[in-house]
Amino acid sequence: MSYFSHLECSVPCGAEAYDPRVEQHLCTCGAPLLARYDLDAARSWKKDSLAGRESNMWRYRELMPLFDGEQPLTLGEGWTPLFHARRVGESLGLERLFVKDESLNPTNSFKARGLSAAVTRAARLGARVLSIPSAGNAANAMAAYAAMAGIEARVFMPRDVKIPFIRECELYGANVELVEGLITDAGRIAAEKGRARGWYDVSTLKEPYRIEGKKTMAYELGEQLEWRFPDWIIYPTGGGTGMVGMWKAFDEMEQIGWKPAGPRPKMVSVQAEHCAPIVRAFENGAERSELWQYARTVADGLRVPKAIGDFLVLRAVRESGGTALAVSDEDMVHDMRVLGSQEGISAAPEGGAALHALRMLIRDGRVQSTDTVVVFNTGGALKYLDVLG
Ligand SMILES: *Cc1c(COP(=O)(O)O)cnc(C)c1O
Repeated sequence: MSYFSHLECSVPCGAEAYDPRVEQHLCTCGAPLLARYDLDAARSWKKDSLAGRESNMWRYRELMPLFDGEQPLTLGEGWTPLFHARRVGESLGLERLFVKDESLNPTNSFKARGLSAAVTRAARLGARVLSIPSAGNAANAMAAYAAMAGIEARVFMPRDVKIPFIRECELYGANVELVEGLITDAGRIAAEKGRARGWYDVSTLKEPYRIEGKKTMAYELGEQLEWRFPDWIIYPTGGGTGMVGMWKAFDEMEQIGWKPAGPRPKMVSVQAEHCAPIVRAFENGAERSELWQYARTVADGLRVPKAIGDFLVLRAVRESGGTALAVSDEDMVHDMRVLGSQEGISAAPEGGAALHALRMLIRDGRVQSTDTVVVFNTGGALKYLDVLG
């Protein structure tokens, strides 16, 4: 049984609730919509009931966007390991450094969580064609779940995306279109084509359910750390669904009594030196980011020059007492190698970026040796082997 009830503007702008039994994308004000649950009723859902459940993110189905009797489309996403990174921790003077290894998801990145949820809802709503602009990993995940659902997938990626991302989409039978420019340009073209043809758009935050998949990362951290949340969550940020989703999960967990109200983990948003719109907005005290010109980085997932949910990411970072940091490509690749050679973890440059941000926080005296730190490795190294050459 699920407590899923309605959709609501994320601002909130005052618009009425939206009905999740029909296709919904953005609020009339243009902001993302968030899934809402009957959290008072959900207080009767107890943590003990999780023992023995399926080893995927749908173990939290009471607070997932499902209606009674519905089955999710799952390839086993979520419930990823939380490794105690002893060797790297020791080299940094930290006893409690953990790596949440999202590379072990289907299609090798945490994008699987969001797309499992989004494609599940799209399929239940009868969508026939799904479209997505992507820097790579989101397209792979969408293509896989669409294949499973028997729905046509249309992906739009920048022309210079790495070859493995293109081939993997094709492997799942998706139709791939390469476009000039960045993910923002891909988004514009996908929307233009899709509008006329009635495609269901699963772009980041332009439908409400990818956040719901990503929020499960915070529920898992609670379970894996025996409900003692870390002092720091260090997270590479592109479109921001991971940050926004985890912050939403903390709200929910407090309201249903799974987490005491009070200090939450400090959220650190990590971006690339040459594509750091959130970092710049954070430093300038701005509520929203500005489009970043000439965005470039080897971390494809971070090459997002402007995110539609930027204000939600900035809110989470500020309310948590966290920060936003930019990392050079050289430093992220260095720390990708450190995760590999010292922990046996296959990390994407995005994961390397998160580890490097931790070094910066230690150097600045912000992270203490007694702190519990979770670094997110959001994807695996295999699709990025060119950066190691
Ligand atoms: C998409 C992606 C990111 C950025 O994730 P958001 O939640 O959209 O900010 C980080 N790392 C990898 C590997 C990605 O594919």
